[in-house]
Amino acid sequence: MIPLAVPNLSGNERAYLNKCIDTTFVSSVGEFVNRIEEMAAKQCNTKYAVATSSGTTGLHLALTGCGVKENELVIIPTFTFIATANAVAHCGATPWLMDISPESWAMDADQLKQEIDTNTIFENGRLIHKETGKRVAAIMPVYTLGNIPEMDKIREIAKAYGLPLIADAAAAIGAVYKGKALGELADLTVLSFNGNKTVTAGGGGIVAGNDEALMKKLKHLSTTARVTAEYDHDMVGFNYRMTNIQAAVGCAQLERTDEFVKRKREIRSFYNNEFNGIKGVSLFPVPSYEESSCWFSGIVIDEGGLDEIRQLCSKLREKEIESRSFWKPVHLQKPYENALKASSLEISSKLWNRILTLPCSTNITNDELKYVSDCVKEILS
Ligand SMILES: *Cc1c(COP(=O)(O)O)cnc(C)c1O
Repeated sequence: MIPLAVPNLSGNERAYLNKCIDTTFVSSVGEFVNRIEEMAAKQCNTKYAVATSSGTTGLHLALTGCGVKENELVIIPTFTFIATANAVAHCGATPWLMDISPESWAMDADQLKQEIDTNTIFENGRLIHKETGKRVAAIMPVYTLGNIPEMDKIREIAKAYGLPLIADAAAAIGAVYKGKALGELADLTVLSFNGNKTVTAGGGGIVAGNDEALMKKLKHLSTTARVTAEYDHDMVGFNYRMTNIQAAVGCAQLERTDEFVKRKREIRSFYNNEFNGIKGVSLFPVPSYEESSCWFSGIVIDEGGLDEIRQLCSKLREKEIESRSFWKPVHLQKPYENALKASSLEISSKLWNRILTLPCSTNITNDELKYVSDCVKEILS
């Protein structure tokens, strides 16, 4: 079977894990969990980074640290992995869902401006959603598949209303936006090291940022807000710190980030070349203004929906190829039936159920890529 996306663990992972065991540093203190923060900060080009147990806990920590509270609103795109919305809900807040731009599959910055202009008032330094009376507490764009939305515009909006800008960059490690590194575009940038991400730690996350006081607060909150070794705590904190075992794998992986991202981009180019001009098929978008990290690749079918995607998957399975549908938007998910929605979510609604993700592990061979493409074309014809 050619798998969809499996980790590539042929570097220093085993050696570093052995070191954890030999030294007994297997928990939330140790050389690797410190090192992964340094490596991630360097990768993001930020001064600081805080290691977390997952991308989701990183997002929740970032939102909490920026003061997001119950009964407030956080703006996110509807087309995302559900963890983005869950992190908002874990704060007791409600997602305000925006549509995506077809060029990037990331948040539509023009719609965001229009929605804010139409539906909010700005008074006493607070942005209030008129209909619900709720405060808008943050904007959290998602770097979809490593595609960054028009952050220049989004940042301008966040600045105009004094809103914290938190990037869900879970799968975007390696992406470059107009010459800027990943961590230079938002106040806080959150990465995930889940097993299917380009760089994995088995599980884990990073919150990267430059504000010293805020980053200290995040670290404090992530480690049960402990003030002294005598079990003295000054806030309701979390047990969100990454373990040294996770970090050992993560450090070994981060050493190979450039190589992994390069391969992900080659895989994207390969499929996009193979399927360019094929009738009934559209390509995964590659925005011109940035260098995407191309986390996942695949195709979009022009006609049909989830049934057609399921059929394609089962025919590919017969040929020993694993493939899958992609994210169901938040506004179509049961727990978020009552989320606040932009006036149109049409692009997301019409896109998500036509996406087929294809094998894109960094260790896939060119022969395997060709075999996958040939099989898909044969089935489609
Ligand atoms: C993977 C992912 C997450 C969640 O990260 P975990 O480490 O699995 O908690 C959040 N948002 C997006 C966009 C993701 O792709």
